[in-house]
Amino acid sequence: MTDQSTTAGDGLRPDEISAYSALEDRVRAGATMPLTMAAPRRGKPPRHWLDLSRDERRDAVRGLGLPAFRADQISRHVFEHLDLDPSGWTDLPAGDRTRVAEAFLPSLLTSVRPLSCDGGTTLKTLWRLFDGSLIESVLMRYGVPGVRASGSGRNRATLCISSQAGCGMACPFCATGQGGLQRNLSAAEILAQVMAGARSLRDGEIPGGPGRVNNIVFMGMGEPMANYKAIMATIRTLTATAPQGLGISARGITVSTVGLVPRINQLATEGLPVTLAVSLHAPDDELRDELCPINTRWNVAELVDAAHGYFVATKRRVSIEYALIRDVNDQVERAGLLADVLRRDGGHGWVHVNLIPLNPTPGSKWTASRRRDETAFVAALERRGVAVTVRDTRGREIDGACGQLAASVAAE
Ligand code: SF4
Repeated sequence: MTDQSTTAGDGLRPDEISAYSALEDRVRAGATMPLTMAAPRRGKPPRHWLDLSRDERRDAVRGLGLPAFRADQISRHVFEHLDLDPSGWTDLPAGDRTRVAEAFLPSLLTSVRPLSCDGGTTLKTLWRLFDGSLIESVLMRYGVPGVRASGSGRNRATLCISSQAGCGMACPFCATGQGGLQRNLSAAEILAQVMAGARSLRDGEIPGGPGRVNNIVFMGMGEPMANYKAIMATIRTLTATAPQGLGISARGITVSTVGLVPRINQLATEGLPVTLAVSLHAPDDELRDELCPINTRWNVAELVDAAHGYFVATKRRVSIEYALIRDVNDQVERAGLLADVLRRDGGHGWVHVNLIPLNPTPGSKWTASRRRDETAFVAALERRGVAVTVRDTRGREIDGACGQLAASVAAE
């Protein structure tokens, strides 16, 4: 990472720093966690305007003794102007502003530590939630003229968001997985990450001039499909046109999963043209059982069948995420096996493989592949006609093992 904007440990409490150091120690020691499917019962975040559907918003304002038309007024401030502070909403009587703030707009996220890199075009934020849980989001702007680190191509912005505090999927190479699952995020807590990123772009805080979020990827902390209801509510609000939502195209949204097959099947029936990303990481059950313990529940064949079913139902090409881990899953033979496993109807036109150079936990056995092995892996896939991309180094910083910012902040 380059030109970080703050110093190590800023904003984190000593107990949080030692907790995250302990998670990294677990990864180094090769410790394993049990798989956790159901979120522990913990205090729920306060109800927020962002949690509600259009009908619920109307009912909610009526419940406060206000006329129903106030609901659309509030939504215009929230979704069109990205404004969550009613104190300046002059079209509402002053007394009503206070009541609306108290009833519907509690503070959900507190920025603990923003980190900026890549010439300011990558902004990572560590957030503290109402109960002290920590999550992260990452905003990446591409194609900014004059900023080489932002890459080439069209000027666009992608936001990577968290769906859970912690993660119950127990992948052994991932510090988040070694911390276990704290709780599901509410739809409002997920949407609030998007609103914060959208405000930063709109207000010109990211080089490249005022802009907007083009792509949203559910690849931060957590397994999105394990928090399905909140994810669906989030996507419905993201894609609703203003003033009922943020008006973001469903085609710009990517939902990732490490392999919750029934939820993939369910997503295929929602009628939403979002992209599905499957974190496969190994083409054979023996290795995948180790890398992604969820594989002991739904194996590679079942997972790839479900992913292909998603393609058939939606006509959206599926992304296959594959973290390249040195001497673990990066052999040329495994590339061949991966191509075999992904072949459907005689070809690979339904998938795109994203190879991710692992962002390693220092001192652990899980580390990034050698460059020559990476090159050979790519060539083996291409020879078999598989579309493949190696993530750039920006992606590497955040995607190697989803949800690593909290751990890496403590380790700096
Ligand atoms: S790699 Fe992703 S799915 Fe696996 S434990 Fe980490 S956050 Fe969860």
